[in-house]
Amino acid sequence: MSTVAGVHPIPFLIGGEWIQDKSSFITHINPATGEVNYEICAGTEAHIDLAVRTAHKAASQPAWRNMLPHNRAQILNKIADLMLERSDLLARCQMLENGKVWKECKNQVINGAATFRFCAAAIETLGSEITPPRGNYLSMTVYEPWGVVAAITPWNSPITLTCNKIAAALAAGNGIVLKPASFTPTSGIELGRIALDAGVPPGVLNVVPGAGSKIGDALVTHPLVRMVSFTGGTEVGRRISELCGKKIIPAVLELGGKSPHIIFADANLKAAADAATVAIFEGTGQSCTAGSRLFVERKVYDEMIAMIIERARALRVDLPDAPGAQLGPSASFSQREYIEKMVEGARKEGAEILIGGARPTERHLAKGAFYLPTIVAGITNKSPIAQQEIFGPVLCAMPFDNEDDLIQQANDTMFGLASGIWTADYKRAWRVARALEAGMVWINTYKQFSTAAPFGGFKESGLGREKGLQGIRTYQQVKTMFWSMSDTFDGGFSIAK
Ligand code: NAD
Repeated sequence: MSTVAGVHPIPFLIGGEWIQDKSSFITHINPATGEVNYEICAGTEAHIDLAVRTAHKAASQPAWRNMLPHNRAQILNKIADLMLERSDLLARCQMLENGKVWKECKNQVINGAATFRFCAAAIETLGSEITPPRGNYLSMTVYEPWGVVAAITPWNSPITLTCNKIAAALAAGNGIVLKPASFTPTSGIELGRIALDAGVPPGVLNVVPGAGSKIGDALVTHPLVRMVSFTGGTEVGRRISELCGKKIIPAVLELGGKSPHIIFADANLKAAADAATVAIFEGTGQSCTAGSRLFVERKVYDEMIAMIIERARALRVDLPDAPGAQLGPSASFSQREYIEKMVEGARKEGAEILIGGARPTERHLAKGAFYLPTIVAGITNKSPIAQQEIFGPVLCAMPFDNEDDLIQQANDTMFGLASGIWTADYKRAWRVARALEAGMVWINTYKQFSTAAPFGGFKESGLGREKGLQGIRTYQQVKTMFWSMSDTFDGGFSIAK
């Protein structure tokens, strides 16, 4: 049995020390093969307490808290360098654990490194602000770290999502306890090693894997945790939000989605069909921004669906490291079970399965958690399969008749993460984009991301923004100062002398 860190079971990181407590561990199963990947030590509540106290101590040290921006930027750039140097290792961690195809895993490392470089550049240029004077004083706004940030990440894209959180939180001068998902712990552990090697002081970034149900509450409710940054499902996000509300600390929540992908009859249909295929099937549908509800104007509905079926049929479902593989397995066997349950439920209610709706039959895929690209039709937007996030390669296709009907259906969901519009009419694109309740709108494109652009959801898809300059401010608190330029006290009522 090989281990990523070269040690068995794989240890985790607190205070710059590798903790190899064998009392509790995660046995990691490769979703592509069903075989055991390795065992990883899992943290307990006592480890969480130690990690938070360690982060608090390290983040309070002037060496970290008051580090000059160009020195902080140098460390962040060094992390980016080391990520690229170790890109095969990082990508392999993710590929073995969640089955995403090799190319996507490598791209996540490259983009993650770019996130560190963006934060490095931003922190050198983000300043304090002088606010307009309304008296004989200088008034200004300065930005300070929260202290200890709890960063909790899901299993679908651990490299990208961890980098979004830790690059910004380190740039802002915080200490961090990172809790990766049990299914995908090792890329976070390796990022912790890279941060140490790049010169982040020991204890500033701690990585403690473990089940959220066992150690999540201990982390979120720890008195020294002053902010929570969570990416995951809406139900867990709601619980974290309640706990943070009780403590009166901020929670940035990046949650689920069921994003509408809209195609009007006047669109470039070929490009729209390509995008609709990628929007749902890339990453085996395990993407929070997946275009999982496809709305097509009725007069081109049949033509569009035929084009998307043709593209879906040509997709290559294979082992994640097979050259040319486009879809790997679901990230776990329990996740595939859930997908199958949702599709069977729709079938029983009279849905038509236009393609897929089954496991692949190739023998070399039989032991993995594979599921074919699936298109479901003959449903309404009210059907459970169109309302619940499936997080698998399942597209719900529905026709619409006019713009008002479309907007009503597109917004009829608890989610509001992303959306896409295809039309040649720029005025309509603007109207529909403004009417959609979503944190992200793509017009004549889909799934374009930039580390410089803020990302987050409306409604129950989340709260707050990550990425971009706003994403760094998310990890800072605001302090306003009034500094008198007068020899007398000029405020309030006058004092009799
Ligand atoms: P999840 O909510 O089950 O778990 C996410 C993380 O929370 C894991 O680390 C888990 O261990 C932890 N956790 C679980 N219970 C906890 C608790 N009580 N307290 C604290 N932490 C706890 O999500 P998942 O199944 O790992 O990921 C899939 C979900 O993530 C999907 O809903 C997807 O849409 C969402 N997601 C959102 C975004 C976004 O940016 N909006 C990005 C990726 C994934």
